[in-house]
Amino acid sequence: MRCAYVEPNTGVRGLASNLNFIEPDQNVVKNYAGCGEMFIPYGAISSTQTALIAADLAVGYLEGKLTESKKVSWKGDSADAEREGLNLTPRYQTFTSSLKKQPLRHPLCDICQPKEFITYQSKCGKRLYLPQTLHQKLCTYRQEEPASVESAGLLIGYYNRNGEVLIDTFTTPKASDQRTRTTFKLDSQAHQAEIEKAYTASEQLLGYVGTWHTHPQDVPRPSSPDKTDWRTHEQDNSDRPLFFIVVGIKTTSVYTLEKGKVIELSIVQEEHC
Ligand SMILES: [Zn+2]
Ligand SMILES: [Zn+2]
Repeated sequence: MRCAYVEPNTGVRGLASNLNFIEPDQNVVKNYAGCGEMFIPYGAISSTQTALIAADLAVGYLEGKLTESKKVSWKGDSADAEREGLNLTPRYQTFTSSLKKQPLRHPLCDICQPKEFITYQSKCGKRLYLPQTLHQKLCTYRQEEPASVESAGLLIGYYNRNGEVLIDTFTTPKASDQRTRTTFKLDSQAHQAEIEKAYTASEQLLGYVGTWHTHPQDVPRPSSPDKTDWRTHEQDNSDRPLFFIVVGIKTTSVYTLEKGKVIELSIVQEEHC
């Protein structure tokens, strides 16, 4: 529930829900007959529809079909609100997932956020926060066996106000990827679809922030195809820094690009936030 009360621009907890379709601090209450007659002018159809969704969620939970918090919204016509001169939120304008059950999880929520990060920093100050739990998950793809093939995926995260990146999750190998001991080729459609899903479910907060892949080397070094590939990604996303993780058998390396040059980041500290 508290994930619904995180202010998306600052990450600070507020009184207005980030799920609202109408901007906060507006006078939406009607008062027809004086004291005790104040109400919010929703019609019976709107409140019945909302009650049905709430009941459906409750039944789903009781039947054990819902195991994590979900949000369901439905977007009606804005004509009535506009006639009243009410301002609608950016969420209303961009919302396209009516009646879909989506995870009720806000990446900036201080309660749900991972508590332990590995922090990587480049010489010119670019920072990447990788939650310990995600690093452990990446390490399960290490090519420790002589026959194990390369794994790869896309990094999903968000840019905080200082332009630093916090990794939220990553896409994992698909059956349709092509993988050998020393090469991989992503099924880009399948991976991209997960990015888009995360983007919509997070109200445009989460997106593509880089890639990861494994190397059959103890200490991984990027190959020249890696560097060429990263430069292409950088050129396609020139407005923001991207990060590239290479998981070796013993260590993990993180890179970024600065003006086409591949820069390795170093671990600055183990943070306990
Ligand atoms: Zn939360
Ligand atoms: Zn590589």
